[in-house]
Amino acid sequence: MRTPIIAGNWKLNCNPTETIAFVEAVKDKLPLNSKVESVIAAPAVDLQSLLDSAKGSQLKTAAQNAHFEDAGAYTGETSPKVLKEMGIDYVIIGHSERREYFHETDEDINKKAHAIFKNNLKPIICCGETLATREAGEETKWVVGQIKAALAGLSAKQVANTVIAYEPIWAIGTGKTASSEQAQEMCHAIREAVKDLYNEEAAGAVRIQYGGSVKPGNVKELMAKKDIDGGLVGGASLDPESFLALVNYQD
Ligand code: 13P
Repeated sequence: MRTPIIAGNWKLNCNPTETIAFVEAVKDKLPLNSKVESVIAAPAVDLQSLLDSAKGSQLKTAAQNAHFEDAGAYTGETSPKVLKEMGIDYVIIGHSERREYFHETDEDINKKAHAIFKNNLKPIICCGETLATREAGEETKWVVGQIKAALAGLSAKQVANTVIAYEPIWAIGTGKTASSEQAQEMCHAIREAVKDLYNEEAAGAVRIQYGGSVKPGNVKELMAKKDIDGGLVGGASLDPESFLALVNYQD
């Protein structure tokens, strides 16, 4: 059985003080990890505050990006090795905002996936199509292509420990959610692609999130779908009450 995973992606929001206040507000009301994994992906400058305040709680932690090298002359980058040393659990890679504004390529994302596993972290690999790609009827081909490229060279065991986040770009921050049927259809296509590339076991274990205007009001319907194992949530993860409603969607 796949454990559901709801992750808040704060993007470039919150300072260390706000991070601590958020964790204090949620930490005693989170579901057990064995029921639903609750994750916050904070900006790199907030990660130490996130870790300190979340210590001993059910809250897991994620970075929003990492470089593919552990160290070197890469000004401004974040080392996956240091993230591991700090105690971080997950790293988001390939978010559409990183692909669009920072020109990250499929090749970069694949290198990052390898670096993350080398450091015993777990990746949350994002994929998703633009509205133009969907309107052209090319969305499945596009997303499966992104996934193939991101996973290249990983072992079946590593893929089984991967989280994939399907985030249609047209649904991010727009209030326009993909229908639960559209989300399910793509998450199913991703799982089938993993089965073709690897095996049934890896496909059965890989967790697939949907992201794009997920809110307390639509999380239950999305999570009821067979191939949707979680949510990657931007705006609605910033408020403690809203985050609690999301992670406690089963109650
Ligand atoms: P919103 O939930 O704000 O649409 O953002 C989705 C997202 O990009 C999460 O990574």
